[in-house]
Amino acid sequence: MKVDWLIVGAGYTGAVLAERIASQLGQKVLVIERRDHIAGNAYDYYDPHGILVHRYGPHIFHTNSKRVWDYLSQFTEWRPYYHRVRALIEGKEIPLPFSLASLRALFSERLANKLEEKLIAHCGYGARVPILKLREAEDPDLRFLADYVYRHVFEGYTLKQWGLRPEELSPTVTARVPVLVSYDERYFQDTYQAMPKEGYTALFRRMLSHHNIKVLLKADWREVEGEVCFDRMVFTGPIDEFFGYLHGPLPYRSLRFELEHHPRLYVQEVGQMNYPNEYPYTRITEFKHLTGQDYLPHTTIAYEYPEAYEPGKNEPYYPVPKEENEERYQLYLKEAERLKAVIFAGRLGDYRYYNMDQAVARALKLFEEVVHE
Ligand code: FAD
Ligand code: UDP
Repeated sequence: MKVDWLIVGAGYTGAVLAERIASQLGQKVLVIERRDHIAGNAYDYYDPHGILVHRYGPHIFHTNSKRVWDYLSQFTEWRPYYHRVRALIEGKEIPLPFSLASLRALFSERLANKLEEKLIAHCGYGARVPILKLREAEDPDLRFLADYVYRHVFEGYTLKQWGLRPEELSPTVTARVPVLVSYDERYFQDTYQAMPKEGYTALFRRMLSHHNIKVLLKADWREVEGEVCFDRMVFTGPIDEFFGYLHGPLPYRSLRFELEHHPRLYVQEVGQMNYPNEYPYTRITEFKHLTGQDYLPHTTIAYEYPEAYEPGKNEPYYPVPKEENEERYQLYLKEAERLKAVIFAGRLGDYRYYNMDQAVARALKLFEEVVHE
């Protein structure tokens, strides 16, 4: 078989590049995927009860990029959705990210008033302050607040999720969920927030339906190597695996999901409940909030249990953003730069903690570079 491009991985990175190359350059693309479905970690499907669930954890679309939004809008209609998250802290359900509303849910009115005034004076109304930054405050009341939020919201959750303390990771990790000096109760503050109306898999199906694209499922790159002739290749799997772990394995973190069905309308009030402290799981997602399937009389929820990544046993869901891992990744990047015919990209190919929109933006940018070569 002869194609212009071989693309390994049918997630966002692979699918966007395949779609652009096929539709804009008129070139032939073969996409190979080792799982038995397209859409990568964004894959969703209907469970036996008719609820649209996400196999690899809850995926909520949000972006500030009009370009990414317009691009994906060619392949889906959207259902407006603002993700809301609560955390169980000392027996109370408080809004996350931690905000002025969370202060009021936890503390007496007097204390909440005092902390609110200080936060606004120190950071400005509307500010988004990473917890590790807030901990540097000198004011004793703000120090009390920062330590409280650190201990009750971040420390236990991060230890469960990563097996590491917040300060052992790149500060960008906990900065994803900043303290909000406002009453905004949305988990994300991006301009565009929505769920694809018919789900992510349907979106991918449309993206990959071009006549210049062929998709081969249940095929690992190693099995196809040597069987297919191609001019160029895109690899969106783990970069360390591609190079046979030449510089040692890059660490990843994995998860185990447990789905539970309940014969009642809803189990929780919001799409996601976080459990930073008491339980072995980190969060519970109730899919009906995400999909808007209010008309169904029953509901499905997913528990997330973090675990160590073991190749062949579970999935490398998260690169671990940490200085020494970045140094090792740079060694792999040097190897990658020597292979002129292969482009490495995506959450695993770039070893970057991308959200969906960042994976799309990266693929669109790469396509531009290919065009201008
Ligand atoms: P992937 O989706 O991982 O696709 C790579 C594909 O390559 C996979 O399908 C894999 O099977 C395949 N592959 C790998 N190696 C090989 C090989 N050797 N041969 C053949 N195929 C191979 N982002 C958001 O924006 N919002 C969210 O709410 C959100 N929630 C998330 C929750 C969880 C639990 C996780 C893990 C991620 C979440 N993300 C979210 C991030 C999102 O999943 C990624 O940004 C996106 O999937 C990245 O796309 P990708 O193409 O780079 O990688
Ligand atoms: N985090 C936390 N407590 C929470 C929520 C998040 O400590 O209740 C930290 C934790 O380290 C987590 C990171 O912030 O891994 C990023 O959270 P996010 O919700 O963005 O994680 P993702 O959805 O990517 O798993």
